[in-house]
Amino acid sequence: MNRVFSGMRPTGKLHIGHLAGALTNWTRLQDDYDCYYGIVDWHALMSDYADTSRLGENCREVLLDWLGSGIDPERSSIFIQSHVVEHAELALALGMITPLGWLERCPTYKEQILNLQNKDLGTYAFLGYPVLMAADILLYRSEKVPVGEDQSAHLEITREIARRFNYFYGPIFPEPETLLTPTPKVPGTDGRKMSKSYGNSINISDELPEIWQKMRTMKTDPARERRSDPGDPDKCPVWDLHRVFNPDGGEREELASGCRSAAIGCIDCKKRLFSHVERYLAPIQERRRHYEGRPELLDEVLHHGAEKARKVARETMAAVREALGLLR
Ligand code: SF4
Repeated sequence: MNRVFSGMRPTGKLHIGHLAGALTNWTRLQDDYDCYYGIVDWHALMSDYADTSRLGENCREVLLDWLGSGIDPERSSIFIQSHVVEHAELALALGMITPLGWLERCPTYKEQILNLQNKDLGTYAFLGYPVLMAADILLYRSEKVPVGEDQSAHLEITREIARRFNYFYGPIFPEPETLLTPTPKVPGTDGRKMSKSYGNSINISDELPEIWQKMRTMKTDPARERRSDPGDPDKCPVWDLHRVFNPDGGEREELASGCRSAAIGCIDCKKRLFSHVERYLAPIQERRRHYEGRPELLDEVLHHGAEKARKVARETMAAVREALGLLR
């Protein structure tokens, strides 16, 4: 079975945008691939090195959300990146051959520097984060990497690093290809992309009254100032969520025409959305609760996942060390 690696930075509780995008895809991939899912704590340190007080807690929150979403520790290897030390070791080795210009020109580097202007990211490690990202993927010699439709450029530098390594030392790494996965549009409550840093998220673990409160006040088509004003669902962030979470096509049609003719109000429309989100989240929150408050169970998942990941990682590193000519 082909291996795939995917990771997520531990930024704390995940939101329904993560769920509809990455996590739904990841749970599906478990049927066809040998999946390695890493909570990439070294990556978190690269941008949040000044305050690490919440790092451990954030890792646990992400783990709970993953398990709740259906990432199955029996089928996938779920682990913390720093528990598999070979990630850091391979990053060091790949750093030897990665030209500085590739890193300086990397579009995600420039983008991150712009997005995170409140942090000092002028560090050696931050410039090199694509090298660590390449190590994460290449360590498992993955042939495919699941990436959202909007991020396929991110993988290119990993492919270039693999090619360069193979050119110098022989064919050790496959050049991983993108496994394009659908990324539905999930706006936050203010209409911008849902993101923790914008404070507009609906979290997977939010209590239902809190979710309703957030939805009730969510932005809609600005043309609907009064209940009697007709609207356009295509200009409404609430509608984007209906598209993702409301599986009832007939109901969606009825709501869309009700919106256009002002036959329904936004609160009615949001109530319907809420009931679908509630149904969608019920099994996820129940699974999450099963693990919550049972740290021994979480430790067991991580321990078991790291063991499985280490087995593959050690094999790769043995081949890398030999290819590099390091003394055994
Ligand atoms: Fe948006 Fe629904 Fe209101 Fe139309 S009725 S503007 S789709 S919330």
